[in-house]
Amino acid sequence: MRNDVRLTTVLIEGGQSVPAQSLYDQLGVRRVIHAAGTKTRLGGTLMLPEVVEAMVQASRAFVKMDELQERAGQIIAEVTGAESGYVTSGAAAGLLQAAAACMAGADPVRIHRLPDTTGMPNQVIMQKGHRMDYDKAVFTAGAEIVEIGFPGETMPWELEAAINDRTAAVLHVINRPAGPLDLPQVTKIAHRCGIPVIVDAAAALPPAENLRRFIVEGADLVAFSGGKALRGPQASGILAGRADLIRSVLLQHQDMDVRETTWTYSADLRAGLLKGRPFHGIGRPFKVGKEEIVGLIVALRAYASRNHAADIQRWREQVTILDAEANKIPGLHAEILQHYGGRAVPLVRVSVDPVSTGLTAAEVVTRLDQGDPPICVDDVPVNEGAFLINPFSLQEGELEVIVDQLRTVMKRITVQS
Ligand SMILES: *Cc1c(COP(=O)(O)O)cnc(C)c1O
Repeated sequence: MRNDVRLTTVLIEGGQSVPAQSLYDQLGVRRVIHAAGTKTRLGGTLMLPEVVEAMVQASRAFVKMDELQERAGQIIAEVTGAESGYVTSGAAAGLLQAAAACMAGADPVRIHRLPDTTGMPNQVIMQKGHRMDYDKAVFTAGAEIVEIGFPGETMPWELEAAINDRTAAVLHVINRPAGPLDLPQVTKIAHRCGIPVIVDAAAALPPAENLRRFIVEGADLVAFSGGKALRGPQASGILAGRADLIRSVLLQHQDMDVRETTWTYSADLRAGLLKGRPFHGIGRPFKVGKEEIVGLIVALRAYASRNHAADIQRWREQVTILDAEANKIPGLHAEILQHYGGRAVPLVRVSVDPVSTGLTAAEVVTRLDQGDPPICVDDVPVNEGAFLINPFSLQEGELEVIVDQLRTVMKRITVQS
C-alpha cells in the first residue's frame, strides 16, 4: 500500500480517474511521478482521454493502411500548413525516413538499395552545434553527415561551400543553442542550390505556433514527436512537408506484400509515374498501426484547438508553489526558469548546497528516485549541482508528494550528517 492515499487513483484529466489497481501494479512494475517533462525513458507523457478512446475505436475495424495514411496526411497538412504529411512511429523514425526520401525519391532501384547509398547523393549537412545522438537516425538510413561550423557559430558561406552533387539534404535541429544559422537562413541557401531541408522539431512544442512555423520558414520535411507535448501515442510521430518527399516516405514505409496489377498505386505504374513496384523499403521496420495513426490524428487536432494559455497558467502556478516550498528547505535553492531552451513550459531549477547538506545534486536525485513512489526529476544539470522539475506530466496531487519527499530526503540528510 502506498503511503499516500492520493496516489491510489491516477487522475488522467478533468477529474476522470482509473483504478489504482492498475496493470502496472499487477505486473509489479512501479509507477513513478514523472517530473521531467515528456521524457521517453519515463513513458513520454499521458495520452488525452479522447486519444485513448479513438485508439479503442480504431482497434475494432479494418481499413487499408495506405488509405488511412493518405487521409492522416491531409489532416497533418491542414494543421501544419504543409503540402502533405505522414504518421511515423516517432520523430527519430521520421528523421530516418526523411533522409531516405531525400536520397531515394521515388526510384525503386534506390529504394531497394538503401541503406547502401551507392549511386545516389548521400551527404546530409549539419551545423556542428546541432549534432546530437538522434542523428544516428540519419546514419541508419545510409547517409553520412557532413559537419559545418564551430559549436557556437556557422557562417552562411560554409553551408554554400559544403553543398555539392553528393548532397542529399540539410538537417536542422530546433531548440539548439543560439549561434548557428537559423532556419530561414538555411532554407534560403539550401533552396538556392536545390537541396531540401529536414527539420528535427521533435520536442519543439509548445508553443503550438511551431506546428506551422517551420513550414513557413521553408522546411521541406518537419519531424514532430507524437508522444511528447502532442499527447498522442508514445510511439508515434509526424512528418509534414513536400508532397513528393512524403510520397517517397510512403513508398518506403508501406507494407509491399502487393501485386503490381492489384496494388493501390498500380495506376501510377501504368502512367509511368513510378518505374516499378518497390519491395519493402527501409521504413518498413518502423511500422505504425491503425490505432497509432488514428490516435495521433485526434491528438494533433486536439492540440491545435487546445487552450494553451490555460496550460501555461497552470504550469506557472505549479512552479510558483514548487519554487516557494523548495526554497524553504535548508540546503536547497530554487529558481523559476521561464524559457529554458526556448521552450514554453516553465521549470523549477533546484540547486543543492553540497557544503551544508554534505550531498551532491546527483545524490539528492537518486534518493528521490528511490523513494516510494519514485520521483523522477530532470537531471540534465546534475553536474552543475542542480536538477530541474518540469510540471508538464504532473498529475493531480503529485506536486504535494514531491514537496513532501523533498523535505523527507533533505531531513534524513541533515540528521545523518
Ligand atoms: C525526443 C527527440 C527525438 C526523438 O523523438 P521520438 O518521437 O522519441 O522518436 C528526436 N530529436 C529530438 C531533438 C528530441 O528531443
